Amino acid sequence: MIRDNSNAVRRTRYFLPTLKETPAEAQIVSHRMMLRAGMVRQASAGIYSWLPLGLRVLKKIEQIVREEQNRAGAQEMLMPTIQSADIWRQSGRYDDYGKEMLRISDRHEREMLYGPTNEELVTQIFAGEVRSYRDLPINLYHIQWKFRDEVRPRFGVMRGREFYMKDAYSFDLDAEAGRVAYNKMFVAYLRTFARMGLKVIPMRADTGPIGGDMSHEFLILAETGESEVFCHKAYLDMEVPAEGVDYGDHAGLADIVRRWTSEYAVTDEMHDPAACPVPADKLIAARGIEVGHIFFFGTKYSEKMGARVAGPGGEEVTVEMGSYGIGVSRLAGAIIEACHDEAGAIWPESVAPFQAGLVNLRQGDDACDAACEDIFAKLRDAGREVLYDDRDERAGVKFADMDLIGLPWQVVVGPRGLKNGVVELKRRAGGAREEVSIESALSQIMDRSAS
Ligand code: ATP
Ligand code: MG
Repeated sequence: MIRDNSNAVRRTRYFLPTLKETPAEAQIVSHRMMLRAGMVRQASAGIYSWLPLGLRVLKKIEQIVREEQNRAGAQEMLMPTIQSADIWRQSGRYDDYGKEMLRISDRHEREMLYGPTNEELVTQIFAGEVRSYRDLPINLYHIQWKFRDEVRPRFGVMRGREFYMKDAYSFDLDAEAGRVAYNKMFVAYLRTFARMGLKVIPMRADTGPIGGDMSHEFLILAETGESEVFCHKAYLDMEVPAEGVDYGDHAGLADIVRRWTSEYAVTDEMHDPAACPVPADKLIAARGIEVGHIFFFGTKYSEKMGARVAGPGGEEVTVEMGSYGIGVSRLAGAIIEACHDEAGAIWPESVAPFQAGLVNLRQGDDACDAACEDIFAKLRDAGREVLYDDRDERAGVKFADMDLIGLPWQVVVGPRGLKNGVVELKRRAGGAREEVSIESALSQIMDRSAS
């Protein structure tokens, strides 16, 4: 077996360009910290390169999204970033989409575009392959880069032009089955965001000409959010469905969705102060960041693109569809907005780029070096993720960088402690420190971090 050492890295060998100064262009904390912590670099307006540390976070977010989608019965596929204009003409959106769409022509002068979303392409795939109601329900998703030429790209990865999105598409025989598909995604979203340490609130969103109540935006509360939101305080204490939630139990899913939509929660477009049913002392009026959006739109695309199956009686049925997005790259910024202090990010264990940082206070000191090598090897061999700051730098510089990067655990090794057989173990969240033996430090990290 080839050993993958990418989970245990030495700072001197790791591409991690941290910045001491606050970049002038960054207006909000997550953007500043992602630049300062060497997570991303701007390539051009609203377009970012993900450096090694940032990519680790992005991949963890993506994996949580994937696991919860799979658990809810969605199937992963991968559609291309470049699409043909033809299918967008068929749906009637080619002209409607306007300047947000990046239009390209190839060497044969064929009109192409960089996909801003995938309803057309996935519906075309469905229409070409699925013939019978027996093959339903189907929910297909992919996690892929999108491009939208936003008027005002800003806030780093939170409103980019190129961004990474999970988008799922459900296909059902009738609207009732469509609601089941919707409920599955609703519940999966609650679990997905909770696993990232986020308190998310599903807010009723505009359904436009489609009508009905099946459109929800999932927002987290944050001062820097672009949306103004209004919701009942009860949302802050609602219970998130457990890991074992049964996606086959349709009545159970409907109950969860009913509970989570029973209180008032809307963004400003849907808010009418005069009609708001929540008493002032129970109302949260705040700002929020949209991290996901689910939407049932019936036959809007299936009709135009010929997505029909033979129903139980042999009749032709146009399938009912919904789409379900999560802003994977936006989440990296959103999580920082939700979890940070002045010194830097405070990553929840589940999405932290590494579980532990190892700080050698006196590089070159035999005892310190040996103790660090020992801790590093033990964490690595136990399959834990560790970043060892082995630079020949002042303690203050190393501390500041570790806090900025925001790993859940820090193990600080210095000559004085070692004489007494101890190292310092620090929790980034809350800042608690204790002097413990190396064995105790290792066992605490290993016990409390998920492997
Ligand atoms: P917004 O109102 O923020 O523009 P949207 O309604 O256009 O979002 P959707 O089309 O529903 O967004 O996309 C699904 C998810 O993708 C959003 O909930 C959001 O998390 C993310 N997203 C949308 N636009 C961007 C962007 N420009 N940069 C980063 N993430 C984005
Ligand atoms: Mg948008």
